[in-house]
Amino acid sequence: MVEEKSGFYIVFIEHSAFRNIVIHTAQYAHFDMKVKNWKEVYGFLIGYIDEDTKWTHITDAVPITHGTHYGVEFKKEHYVLSAYLNLMVAENDEFYVGWYHSHPGLGLFLSQTDIVNHLGYQVVNPKAIAMVFDHTKLIQKEPPIEIFQLDNPTFGVSSNYHSIEYYIGGIKKDKEIEIIKELYYEIEPDCISGKITSIEKTVRRVVRKWKGERKIKLPKKDLYKKKKKRGIKQSFGPFFE
Ligand SMILES: [Zn+2]
Repeated sequence: MVEEKSGFYIVFIEHSAFRNIVIHTAQYAHFDMKVKNWKEVYGFLIGYIDEDTKWTHITDAVPITHGTHYGVEFKKEHYVLSAYLNLMVAENDEFYVGWYHSHPGLGLFLSQTDIVNHLGYQVVNPKAIAMVFDHTKLIQKEPPIEIFQLDNPTFGVSSNYHSIEYYIGGIKKDKEIEIIKELYYEIEPDCISGKITSIEKTVRRVVRKWKGERKIKLPKKDLYKKKKKRGIKQSFGPFFE
């Protein structure tokens, strides 16, 4: 059953966007790598809200960075990259509909840090979503992704959250686990052998080119500012205002 809490229920992910997420996660955590070397990855979900169906349509997933086994920290360069990327996607009347990150071997849930992070998105966009990916779920024959939203962001860090129904382009729901597993095992060897170049680097290249072509240079004050809200350092804000 679809939960109806925040007035926003179904997410559609383009196949190519989902593929990016699989590549990004597999480049930093795969079955051929020692578990202690697995790293979390973090990226943005780009898209729009369909006026008629009210579905969130994810057209692209943009890999930004990776961290340690248990978390990802946003550094100055990532804020700068995000600010330009935000302008770039706005050209297509799209925006950050949410974010994704991986929990390699940790399960599908939102940690306290994830909730703080997500508040930065959902306070600004009530329909913002957080997608979590854990490739190890595939061995257990379970879906490796779950999409979350806070029940009521006004509760801040003590907000509860719920899952949202989603569809991935070209993947039938009843065959989902099987097909994602196939896709993962198809991508993993290419990531290991380096056949697929670093997807984070590819993003940087694309943004640099776009920036160069338009000769855009954002003033420093628009690129990075730390926000303190009720004593909590918020990771996000400047790009959604
Ligand atoms: Zn997390």
